[in-house]
Amino acid sequence: MREKEMAHPLQCTHACRRGFLKSVASATIAGLAAPPLLSTPARADALTHAQRDSMTPEQILEAMKRGNERFRRGERKPRNYLNEQKASAKGQYPAAVLLSCIDSRAPAEVIMDLGIGDIFNCRVAGNIENSDILGSMEFACKLMGAKVVLVMGHTSCGAIKGAIANVELGNLTGLLARIKPAVDATQYDGERTATNYPFVDMVARKNVELTIAQIRRDSAVLSELEGQHTIKIAGAMYNLSTGAVDFIA
Ligand SMILES: [Zn+2]
Repeated sequence: MREKEMAHPLQCTHACRRGFLKSVASATIAGLAAPPLLSTPARADALTHAQRDSMTPEQILEAMKRGNERFRRGERKPRNYLNEQKASAKGQYPAAVLLSCIDSRAPAEVIMDLGIGDIFNCRVAGNIENSDILGSMEFACKLMGAKVVLVMGHTSCGAIKGAIANVELGNLTGLLARIKPAVDATQYDGERTATNYPFVDMVARKNVELTIAQIRRDSAVLSELEGQHTIKIAGAMYNLSTGAVDFIA
């Protein structure tokens, strides 16, 4: 089958541009039908250049949301990793670059039903940014054409707890220092400790917000791309208990 005849899970169809999400939401609520993308008979084995470039940053974020909704329903797109590996071996056209925590329970591709070649991944404890992370993001967006920068924190994050508790250990001390501004900036009247999960999760969310602000501040390349509406910089929080990715910015 030729490339243009195939749909990829990340790719939006024209139905999407006509308010597809709204119609899916009402159809799902009414229990009428599965979203059209779920019943797509054929799919590409890896995101192609043309497919990626046909999507807007907003459509890519919507596709990630729909992927997480499938994950939460216990569903996933039919996929063959070997076919994806073969199809992407000679070139990659990822739609987004994600900055997320190293936590073993928050694997981006799994929780958003994505495949090989769909996204770039930066993973570091507490999803903080530094010049190497920014360099990776600039490579992903400016040189490779990714259209979304997504910073994803998560609930019950050990790095956030460590920053709150002033943990000191080798190189970890310096990493946690990058999270401490989020601890200070979190407005919370209750117990501000690492064992108080509501506070820990509020700090994690603030850390995502501050990291996004730092990306815009520290990367002229990415802010320029965002100013041109070539890319979108967004945030999310993954809830370990519910499996839900909450897009927050
Ligand atoms: Zn974490």
